[in-house]
Amino acid sequence: MKYLFGKELEEKSINIINQFDSSYLNIPDSLPEEELLYFFGLDLQYVNFCDPDVLGAFVFEPGYVKILDSNGEVYEQYFDKNVVLIDSFEAIKNLHRAKFTMFHEVSHFILHSKTQKKIHIDGKAQIRYFLKSDYHRELKTDEDVIEWQANYLASCLQINNQALALFINSLKSNYEYPSKGGFIYMDEDERKCIIEKTSRQFNVSFRAAEIRLEVRRYIAPNNQSESYYK
Ligand SMILES: [Zn+2]
Repeated sequence: MKYLFGKELEEKSINIINQFDSSYLNIPDSLPEEELLYFFGLDLQYVNFCDPDVLGAFVFEPGYVKILDSNGEVYEQYFDKNVVLIDSFEAIKNLHRAKFTMFHEVSHFILHSKTQKKIHIDGKAQIRYFLKSDYHRELKTDEDVIEWQANYLASCLQINNQALALFINSLKSNYEYPSKGGFIYMDEDERKCIIEKTSRQFNVSFRAAEIRLEVRRYIAPNNQSESYYK
């Protein structure tokens, strides 16, 4: 596994957007996730996962995956490689999170498909699952780092730093937020307001916008928020 810093992932996201459609560097909007998947030659399929903790998955090597049929019975379906699987219930229940999962899975393809070890077991697909609990991982093992990298690149692709800078500057000139110590100084209401505006503008969840604004140091980290994404 290659260790990558946030700065390198930021640069990678800008390179990707330049290849995909450079106009997204100047417009404050999330990249269209499905188009991005197809741009990389990936396929997207909605399935019912057996484990309710699973949000999505990426198929690195083809084979059979256990999923549920429409009657809730477990069966094995064959999937080709480079397929992104999204839990269909999740896609209805929490669209923002399902979209983030697509960016997370495409990030695995970009960052990890070459280094993923090939293991074949009885026709089973080689698959990497994305779990709800993955949002709470601490960085201890290589697996944790791999998931962190996918989350970080996903976050950069959804809210790229150039478009975010333009958006924040437009807000600053409207509201004249005074600057203090690297962060825009604001009280709790203003903090909430800038996160909500960013979340609406980029069509992401409140938490996704909050994380991105914290990482890019526009707002001070809120110590009460631990989860990577809600
Ligand atoms: Zn993952």
